[in-house]
Amino acid sequence: MHIDYDVVIAGGGMVGSTLACALGNTALRVAVLEPLPASPPPEQGYDLRVSAITLATRAIFEAVGAWPAMEERRLAPIREMRVWDAAGAGSIHFDSADIGQPELGYIIENSVIVQALHRRMQDFSNIRYLCPMALQGIERDLGGVAPAARSAQGRRAHLPQQPPSHVALTTRTGERLSARVLVGADGAQSLVRRLAGIRSRGWEFNQKGIVATVKTSQPHRQTAWQRFLPTGPLAMLPLDDEYCCSIVWSADTARADQLLALEDGDFMAALQEAFGDALGLVETVGPRAAFPLALAHAEGYVQPGVALLGDAAHRVHPLAGQGVNLGFADAAVLAEVLLEAHGAQKDIGQYAVLRRYERWRKFDNAAMLAVTDGFKRLYGTRHAGIVYLRDLGMNLTDAAQPLKNKIMRVAAGMDGDLPRLARGARGF
Ligand SMILES: Cc1cc2nc3c(=O)[nH]c(=O)nc-3n(C[C@H](O)[C@H](O)[C@H](O)COP(=O)(O)OP(=O)(O)OC[C@H]3O[C@@H](n4cnc5c(N)ncnc54)[C@H](O)[C@@H]3O)c2cc1C
Repeated sequence: MHIDYDVVIAGGGMVGSTLACALGNTALRVAVLEPLPASPPPEQGYDLRVSAITLATRAIFEAVGAWPAMEERRLAPIREMRVWDAAGAGSIHFDSADIGQPELGYIIENSVIVQALHRRMQDFSNIRYLCPMALQGIERDLGGVAPAARSAQGRRAHLPQQPPSHVALTTRTGERLSARVLVGADGAQSLVRRLAGIRSRGWEFNQKGIVATVKTSQPHRQTAWQRFLPTGPLAMLPLDDEYCCSIVWSADTARADQLLALEDGDFMAALQEAFGDALGLVETVGPRAAFPLALAHAEGYVQPGVALLGDAAHRVHPLAGQGVNLGFADAAVLAEVLLEAHGAQKDIGQYAVLRRYERWRKFDNAAMLAVTDGFKRLYGTRHAGIVYLRDLGMNLTDAAQPLKNKIMRVAAGMDGDLPRLARGARGF
């Protein structure tokens, strides 16, 4: 029977495009479906959306050949990080030199990342980028097991042993495609996740993250600054102009809406008051936008013929700058698992193959979700005893260099069971 593609990736955002590049130049036939044309990075000023990128993510971008285009376009290294508690006297300082690295990570505009990945995808004859095209529905051949019986059984233990031979897809514009594996890289509201009947657990934080670009009177010194306010963390992230930072200001929804509605001058005054004078005066602010924040984790990442990754599988609070880095690691692992299975002449849509990806990633992602949620709760209280204890903990950690070095390595994605691409291996 003819199957159009080995892998169809629904979603050509940062994570889906990384997976596509990781599968570039291999024997797998890959299609990426993306409904929206990507906007290029602005010529004047900066994209409102930026991401803090870890060293492990840089290694993945290098391995798939997308890093040079990002470096050429625009990015900013983070050499140090300063975090402090507005409600107490705790502070911590991280310096990349302490772990023998020139940088702790990078701030890159999301549009720069996507454009570099899309440009790289064009180099691969086995990848087709189908845009504008959106997934609408799926129908799986489940090896003779009726879908109704399967959903009534529900639990993973009862999933059919027989792998599906393919997944049939329909698009919003009426095309029909088939694939051995459908990958959901279609973001937090993932249609793939819903069509596959995979539940996601979590909660809204009732907070929004306000983003904007600001100019300050003092240079940022390639340092990422984060002040924990009882209302939510406020980060000033360094851009390539040493007087420009991208802010991520998390606040309760009502307060965030109020801040968004302020005139520029009033917003800058509120920002100055919230951040303090560590970077001198806030001199200008560009357009602002806000994004609702939530924690979510899919109960499973895979089913026969289906895999989820990136925000389709998990969402975390942006306070640790880890969200999309988890997605890039998912992409590197899934590529490795699929290519190894294909090399061993296995059916890549088989549940056992995809389960290896899930086992590899789900625990690490759950741990990061728990840590960021713990920090959010810890710093969300004004209780004097807790403020005292958290400041004590912060200051003790600051004085314990080996512990700090360990934290830096974990945050940079350099610890744990890394996929080949994150270890710097080029290709498969
Ligand atoms: C304020 C804020 C700040 C953040 N800062 C950081 C940070 O510093 N570092 C970090 O690591 N993370 C950060 N994050 C998290 C990060 O932005 C997300 O994890 C990341 O955008 C997820 O990427 P993705 O590719 O999985 O999903 P998305 O970016 O949501 O992409 C999904 C893609 O799927 C497409 N799509 C949707 N429906 C369909 C369909 N039916 N068919 C086909 N395609 C479809 C969409 O058009 C889109 O292109 C931040 C998040 C917020 C809100």
